[in-house]
Formats: sequence, structure tokens, C-alpha cells
Amino acid sequence: MAISDGTYPLAADRLFAGAPEHELKEALQRLSLKPDEVPVSEACLLVYAGDLVILVDTGMGPDLSPTAGKLLQNLKAEGIDPADIDIVVLTHCHSDHIGALTHAESKLAFPNARYVMWEEGWEFCMSKETRAEIQPDRVEFLDRKLLPIRDRLELLEEDGEIVPGIHAFGAVGHQPGHMMVEISSENEKLLYISDTLLHPLNLEFPDWYAVYDRDPEQAVAVRRELLKRAAAEGFLVHAFHFHFPGLGYIRRGGGAWRWEPFGGAAQGPIHSPANRSLRAVRGTCRASDLRHWPQPSIRRDQAWR
Ligand SMILES: [Zn+2]
Repeated sequence: MAISDGTYPLAADRLFAGAPEHELKEALQRLSLKPDEVPVSEACLLVYAGDLVILVDTGMGPDLSPTAGKLLQNLKAEGIDPADIDIVVLTHCHSDHIGALTHAESKLAFPNARYVMWEEGWEFCMSKETRAEIQPDRVEFLDRKLLPIRDRLELLEEDGEIVPGIHAFGAVGHQPGHMMVEISSENEKLLYISDTLLHPLNLEFPDWYAVYDRDPEQAVAVRRELLKRAAAEGFLVHAFHFHFPGLGYIRRGGGAWRWEPFGGAAQGPIHSPANRSLRAVRGTCRASDLRHWPQPSIRRDQAWR
């Protein structure tokens, strides 16, 4: 089930930092997008795996944007109690993925969950070097969100199973320790790609990396590999930042990749009740065969969000 966290505007020159200026201008005009306000959505994923309830990413939390950080209220509207969530998987520690982990006074929002992250991602977020690079308020944010889960945290060192049918794959470039999550159910497969693609324009222009991609070259390599495999294998993709619910297929035709929304749905209004959540994957899970994403090469000199 995809659960909306809301939508907020980003500047095009940050979201598409790698784009040649004239090409970006032309693309924005074609899509009627304002350069300062490209709408970016967020949708987390809730998976029922046997008896377990698993949440992948938590969105931005209530403090950073008036129009995002709606995960907890949308879970509630669906009748889902955060206390019933058994596992929270964090694909990386950018603020828009870890923001709902705690309430005020560092109280855990998912009090009975254990947490799963990539070890390299955790170490990156906790490192002195990273902390020296970012604004003090961001350090405080990381501490407020991440330190309270430390005792319940399971760190992954390599690609592998989280629970039967749910696998994590390292997909670094966007951030050290950034991962994708594959969910298999009978003969269906869904790949939660997190921030490997940030906008549908990334299908048309895979090389347009964002300022948020810490290692742009690596991020683009992972993105191209994903596009190739998703188009060849035809599995369902969940793109966290695409228009809600972020579910669709990557198709290849006429020498280009294109996004085909799940169910062929037209893009509807962002905050209507119908767009609050969408049930897409439910059932018991099975292992899968997707392996060997490009290996990490970490650079620490790029921008941090
Ligand atoms: Zn993100």
C-alpha cells in the first residue's frame, strides 16, 4: 500500500543540477512547470508480509514543510496504528525519508518497531566528517530522528533478505548506503527504488543528476542500470518522489524510456482523499533473483541535503 506524505516545491536547478540550461528550460516549458516550483511528491510503502507489517521510509515529518509530512495522519486515516508496525526500513537518511521517526521529546512514532538501514548509510550520517559539512540544525535533526532508534536498529552490510520476500539492494550514488527494496509476492514483483529516480524527467534525461546526488556519476550509473532492467523485466516500480502513488512501469520504445503509471491512472489532484493511499501489494512473499547493482564508489565532496 502506498501512503502519501504530501507534495512540496523544489527549484528545478537543484532537482536537475546536471541539466544543460537551455534543455532544462525547454523541458520545463513543455511540461508547464515553473523553474522555482517543480512539485515533488512523497509516497511511503506499507507492506503486509505474512504476520508482519512493514513500513518503507517515513517521509518528511511535520516540521519541514506545510504541504508534506502527512504520513502519520494518512496512516491514521487508513485505520493503521503506528504501534502495529513491526519493521521500519529506512532507505537512506535524508530528512524526507526519516522525518516521521520521532515526535517531540524524541518519542518514537513507531514504538514497537525494529528498524533496518544500510550500515554504510548509518555510519555516513553519524560520521564527524558529514556532521562538519552540514548545517547545525540538520545535525540536530539527524540526532533527534536517528539516535532514539539506535537500540532497535539492524544494519545491513550487503544485499540480502530483510524478511522472506523482502530484499534490500545497495544502490549508492544518491547517498552512501542508499538502498532499494524489492518485494515479491507469488509471481509479482515490486521494486521500491527510493531516490534512484527523482522525477519522471529522469527517464527522458537520465544524466540530469540532482544536487542531492552525492556522487552524481554513480547515481546516474545506478539509474541507467535500473531503467534498463525495469524495462527489460517489466516489474512494477515504486518511485518515492513521483506523483502519488509513485507506482508504475518503465517502458522502452523509440529509443527512449517512459513512465507508465500503475493502472494507467491519470495524474489526479494531489491532496484528494482518493490520493491518500493505494493498495498495490498485499500477500505472502517469496524470494527473488535481482542482484548485483553497481558497486559503491563514495565521494564526500558533493552537496548534502
Ligand atoms: Zn528523497
